[in-house]
Amino acid sequence: MPDEMVDAHIRGVSNALAAGWRVLDRGGSALDAVEEAVVIMEDDETFDAGRGSFLNRDGRVQLDALIMDGATLRAGGVGCVEHLRNPVRAARKILSESPHVYFVAEGAEKFAAEHGIPLCKNEDLVIPREVERLREYQASLAASKQDGNDLFAPSNDMTISHDTVGAVALDHNGDIAAATSTGGTLNKAPGRLGDSSLIGCGCYADNESAAVSTTGWGEPIMKLVLAKWTADRIAAGNLPEWSAQEAMNYLKQRVR
Ligand code: ASP
Repeated sequence: MPDEMVDAHIRGVSNALAAGWRVLDRGGSALDAVEEAVVIMEDDETFDAGRGSFLNRDGRVQLDALIMDGATLRAGGVGCVEHLRNPVRAARKILSESPHVYFVAEGAEKFAAEHGIPLCKNEDLVIPREVERLREYQASLAASKQDGNDLFAPSNDMTISHDTVGAVALDHNGDIAAATSTGGTLNKAPGRLGDSSLIGCGCYADNESAAVSTTGWGEPIMKLVLAKWTADRIAAGNLPEWSAQEAMNYLKQRVR
């Protein structure tokens, strides 16, 4: 994260924490707390979630989100949505009001609209900083291809600067919940779905183990079902700090 963006991130995370805490403090559920915390960060352009997200190869914002209730194991996820300011709100509606767990693209947006969530234009989610970032990235990708390197352009501060958002919470009943929301990776192919909205990959919650939200390059995280892997370590009696560190070691060793 470049130095000049650190304060904005700390402010954004603090605001999210305050919103989640307000819910818990008045006796609300962990599920409500993680939803409210994530909404704050989706609304904050600092992060790669909601408005201000990384753009895909076509210059569009395409969002994924998941929310999960550790008490019941109910979950709601949306993938590749382009017209929702707060995909976590749609995910929550799916969790609460649908027999299904997961909706993608137009189907997810239709479900959201039918459940009172207003749709927006994709342009409403795109900000100039991200248009410029994509332009720079695609230019450096083209240059590195010309030099005979393929796939990834050299990273610089402008390229890697902000990130997926997530929240975990424990409420007065002893119930836990987790939520993750993302714009995914910069210059991703349209229709590419990352780990963030997949149960056990980018997000997981079970009262019998842990609430987990992950961030990082989604393809390796998916291959290891990393959130569930980590929760399983905690269920086996290991400390959360140790389990998180082990998850990083596993990621490095197994898929580099
Ligand atoms: N995990 C996200 C994805 O691959 C990106 C991130 O967390 O930065 O879509």
